[in-house]
Amino acid sequence: MSAKTRPEILIIGGGIGGVAAALALARRGMRSRVLEKAPEFGEIGYGIQQGPNAYRMLDWLGVMKELEPQAVFTKNLILIDALTDRELTRISCGEPFRRHFRAPYTVVHRRDLHGALLEACRKREEIALHTSKDLVSFADRGKSVVATFADGSEYEGWAMIGADGLRSRVREILIGDGPPQPVGHVTYRGVIPLDQVRDQSHFDDMVIWIGPNLHFVQYRLRGGTVMNNVATVVSGKFARGERQDYGGPEELAEVFSRTTPDVQEMLGYVGKDKNWVLHDREPRPGWTRGKVALLGDAAHPTLQYLAQGACMAIEDAVVLSGKLEKAGSEVDAALRAYEQERYLRTARVSLIPAPLRSGYSFFLSLFRHTIQTKPAQKPTNSTRKMAVASVLGSTAGSGAWACADAKRNEAIDPARNLFMAGFLKGRSASGHG
Ligand SMILES: Cc1cc2nc3c(=O)[nH]c(=O)nc-3n(C[C@H](O)[C@H](O)[C@H](O)COP(=O)(O)OP(=O)(O)OC[C@H]3O[C@@H](n4cnc5c(N)ncnc54)[C@H](O)[C@@H]3O)c2cc1C
Repeated sequence: MSAKTRPEILIIGGGIGGVAAALALARRGMRSRVLEKAPEFGEIGYGIQQGPNAYRMLDWLGVMKELEPQAVFTKNLILIDALTDRELTRISCGEPFRRHFRAPYTVVHRRDLHGALLEACRKREEIALHTSKDLVSFADRGKSVVATFADGSEYEGWAMIGADGLRSRVREILIGDGPPQPVGHVTYRGVIPLDQVRDQSHFDDMVIWIGPNLHFVQYRLRGGTVMNNVATVVSGKFARGERQDYGGPEELAEVFSRTTPDVQEMLGYVGKDKNWVLHDREPRPGWTRGKVALLGDAAHPTLQYLAQGACMAIEDAVVLSGKLEKAGSEVDAALRAYEQERYLRTARVSLIPAPLRSGYSFFLSLFRHTIQTKPAQKPTNSTRKMAVASVLGSTAGSGAWACADAKRNEAIDPARNLFMAGFLKGRSASGHG
């Protein structure tokens, strides 16, 4: 059966991962039906960073042309000590960076990114889009999958992709490993007009102010017309066992109270009436069974510290579509091959930033475990750069990524994967996950 004459694939969830998957399948001539629970497709109104890995795939998906006028091309990634205002390091995203990663570092508004993907989906006859479809259950009937929704409707697909996010119903049925766990970190966000930002010295950069148990991220969006602000704290209340009510605005102010007056002033740029209590899962295999596979946060929730969760979902979409294109009648094998290719890569991305979570310890940890050879060695600016680059490089799209360009299928770095497999085995033996 050729890809074009195959029956359609069901995609549960129309977030960034779901619509990217539909577009990637269409790009390879396959039909799909996206079934979204919400009454409308959409994204929340804040920013998203796109490493060069995501840029290359979005380009392959054909949406970068539409997205580029809205995107901001980051000049530098800068880390600043939030207690002293001292610049710790910066990575230039200029020509050498672009050459190395074969793409720029960009930041976009989530609605612009999701909107560009959705618009592209709307233009493809291979894609059907539905809202108000809340998946309740599914049955894998061997030759097809039948999905049942809360409104009583049923759809049959050649395969089914669960792209239904952090609290995935598809995952609940497939793996059943319970809800994601709170990690004790709370985030506040805000997008404000540019003229309301007092310090304009970093307008072309993505800046992170880091300090003990906190960080503050800032970058421009929408062609540079507005500023995205994100403040995150690691809650002391949560660490002391107060699980019901933690990370409120008063704790935000308390954790930031040792930062410079400039950083404290920036707290005024984030809304206090809403926050995001962050949740996580240990990496765990088993995202595919029969004709059903998970994708994006449903498969591997990724905290924001490397700004790669959505990038990983887009990578998943491209890799999965490639496997299905070549599947013939072997759908189950193609889905297994997809998980095999993606599992260690996504596990690495979700586990690497663990030290970043508490601000300062990010550097200490990197120096001790990655860069520093002698314990007493003082970090120089170049070792700092190497440390940050090693983290960025591991995600930003060097050797480890299976390329979006179908003709350039880069091999996954076997040494890194061997290390990661051993590491994950060690973690589960010591009681993680
Ligand atoms: C503070 C913060 C900052 C972040 N910053 C970045 C960043 O800079 N860069 C980056 O790459 N990533 C970032 N991320 C991560 C990124 O937001 C997520 O990884 C990404 O949005 C996941 O996309 P998804 O499509 O897998 O899931 P989602 O976006 O959660 O989409 C899931 C969709 O499925 C639908 N759904 C749910 N249940 C059902 C059901 N039963 N039936 C049908 N539909 C259903 C939902 O309504 C939703 O539309 C950040 C995350 C946070 C919390």
